[in-house]
Amino acid sequence: MDAERIIEIEDAHDSHQFNKKIPLLHGEGAILYGQDGTPFIDCAGAHGVATIGYAHPRFVEEMCAYLQDKRPITCGHYYDENRAEFIEKLLAVVPKNLNRVFFGNSGTEAVEAAFKFAMKYKKDIKDKEIVAFKRAFHGRTLGALAATFEPRYRDDYVFIPGVKHASYNDAESARSLVNENTIAIILELVQGEGGVYPANDDFPAALRELCDEKGIPLIFDEVQTGFGRTGKLFCLEHYGVQPDILCLAKGIAGGIPMGATITTDAIMDAVTPGSHGNTFGENPFACHAGIVSLDIIQQEHLIEHANKISEYLFPALHALAEQHPSTIKEIRGKGLMIGVQFRNKINEVMQALQDEGVLVLNAGVTVVRLLPPLVITMDQAKQVIEAFEKILDRE
Ligand code: PLP
Repeated sequence: MDAERIIEIEDAHDSHQFNKKIPLLHGEGAILYGQDGTPFIDCAGAHGVATIGYAHPRFVEEMCAYLQDKRPITCGHYYDENRAEFIEKLLAVVPKNLNRVFFGNSGTEAVEAAFKFAMKYKKDIKDKEIVAFKRAFHGRTLGALAATFEPRYRDDYVFIPGVKHASYNDAESARSLVNENTIAIILELVQGEGGVYPANDDFPAALRELCDEKGIPLIFDEVQTGFGRTGKLFCLEHYGVQPDILCLAKGIAGGIPMGATITTDAIMDAVTPGSHGNTFGENPFACHAGIVSLDIIQQEHLIEHANKISEYLFPALHALAEQHPSTIKEIRGKGLMIGVQFRNKINEVMQALQDEGVLVLNAGVTVVRLLPPLVITMDQAKQVIEAFEKILDRE
């Protein structure tokens, strides 16, 4: 189908919920190709999903072999060796207190499950409350959206009551909102959608202390920060703090939709069997994708590679910020989760970068967010900086 026809059909008949840019034909590594074959360096990374990049040869081979071997795609009512293996692999890399896995299909469902599990764990509290943070993004389903802060995502919807938003990086603000009805505290260790704001060094530990004192679960939403995005397999490793519930998705399964909510035994034991569930969540195809993707990240040392790229990108971006202080306000982030805070709206900057062959994401209206695949090459990273240089020199 040609590009015009694709655009015509989608514009006429899809939901118009997504701000669409260009039709894409295929991808390889960190490069996406437009319908006419134009290459783009993909610093949007499919919203941070594409950790192992596009068309990774081992991923393609193993997923094709899975289907050719007629392996099962059944649901969670049958035992499956792929699921068992993926559970084992996940539990080997998360904090040791986390011992039970619930699989879903997306980030928002991982958060939704976390809230439901916390509600079961604290079933004796009647008017349940959850503390989240200003600027937080936890997803679009009604439970997760209740914890998401941005008003334009929330307008006109009706939520579970009792979610309160404290100031991020301010443990005293969280403490002031916790009371006898609080059942959990949830946070992103680097706020992504809200503008790429990393947690201060001592913030997660202070929340851990608060949760221990009150006997409530601490939930880390690592949907965006997980699987190597911030320079460690999980961002919690930067802080040395373990949550009671860990939410994962995006980079979990090489691009196949999947989410996971990982909890302690005590929390999952409180969730009566059958009181939560889904159809696709435990599917062995996605579990197989998870195994292969995690193997690739570990065996090909993608995090070490991504850290080298990050060690190049941060100083290069800081230098640009120094050269253009009236245009760039701040550079923030960790690993390959980078926010370039501009002083003005970034619509034109994003278009100009695209014209220079670099696809980026926004995080709010003034932050350009870079979430490239971990396999991005040093040469490609240099081209990204050159594209920024070009458009900034025009300002
Ligand atoms: N939590 C965080 C921190 C996210 O960044 C996102 C998505 O961007 C979500 C939850 C929701 O994930 P999904 O879009 O897969 O539902």
